[in-house]
Amino acid sequence: MMYKLDITRLDDFLSAISTGRDVFALEESAGQYHLTRADSWQPGRHTLGAFRQVEPLKTLVFRPREFLGEIGRSRPEAVMPERIVIGVKNCDLSALKIHDHVFLNTEPADPLYREAREKTIIISCDCSAAREVCFCPAVGEQPYPKAGFDINISPTEHGYLVEAGSARGRQLLEKAGKFLAAADDALLKERDRNRRELTRKVCAQAEQNGLACGADLRRAVEKSQGGKIWDDFALDCVECGACNLICCTCHCFLLADGESKNKAFARVKQWDACLYKNFAAVAGGANPRRHRAERLYNRFEKKFSFFPEILGIYACDGCGRCVEACTGKIDIRKVLGRAVHEL
Ligand code: SF4
Ligand code: SF4
Ligand code: SF4
Repeated sequence: MMYKLDITRLDDFLSAISTGRDVFALEESAGQYHLTRADSWQPGRHTLGAFRQVEPLKTLVFRPREFLGEIGRSRPEAVMPERIVIGVKNCDLSALKIHDHVFLNTEPADPLYREAREKTIIISCDCSAAREVCFCPAVGEQPYPKAGFDINISPTEHGYLVEAGSARGRQLLEKAGKFLAAADDALLKERDRNRRELTRKVCAQAEQNGLACGADLRRAVEKSQGGKIWDDFALDCVECGACNLICCTCHCFLLADGESKNKAFARVKQWDACLYKNFAAVAGGANPRRHRAERLYNRFEKKFSFFPEILGIYACDGCGRCVEACTGKIDIRKVLGRAVHEL
């Protein structure tokens, strides 16, 4: 069922559904949004945001560094409190399909990731604008969520359209029922018009930046293996790893051993980056991807060939964070556009 929420009741509604939980919400600063933690939804400080925040959502469920355990103490961390994330955009939401596959659909599943996913309530939101680097429709996505949320909120000029996407979301809507009314057809039509219009705009800006919507990126990347394209772009790459670390779908990690503060043998799990020279190095010094061009190709091969093969989706949702973060000013839209052009 779809509900209408009056524009003036958004703060009351979000306060009601988030009470008693850790809140992660967006704050605006210098034209960007940042995901910050608070004890409650705070009117005036927090916003639903027009587009995705700087930090990828993955930081909440696949943390940059996690203490796994030490000799004699296997689960040192306190049990995670339930939290609610408000304002999640579709690029971050769809990235969770990749993380779920990697950390849950394998044997054994990752217990830390599973706990974080179970304890995280997701309140997503349609985008009402896009950053210049966004290109979600060019990778088969769109600037609004279709699934994977507990509750989704679509802003329109005449009120918010609110929808539950899970049993947990339905319970929350029941709790805040006094703020909601049944949505009418006019509001639904307005939401659909907004969605179509923004999708068209993001598609057009992707095309202006070299990447047309609807191209077969899998075929283009597979055909480009060993091509000059990778040598050319690798000339600008300084192996900083920023593209990997900022990426909402990248999930590679390193298990590192050391000494804990209790002076015991301990192990941590921390983010890794496949652009680092020694990422693929093995004992004895062999390195199957010694050259930067090979590592650059490997990143694209994983995203546009391997994941379509095993999961049927690209491991890129067009958020454009890597474009903004790249020290060498490599633009993924230009790389993919050239691969398509050279098909
Ligand atoms: S990539 Fe798409 S979903 Fe993500 S912020 Fe941009 S427009 Fe929204
Ligand atoms: S590869 Fe770039 S555009 Fe694609 S999901 Fe990762 S950061 Fe976003
Ligand atoms: S962010 Fe750019 S320069 Fe840094 S590793 Fe990635 S492609 Fe190379």
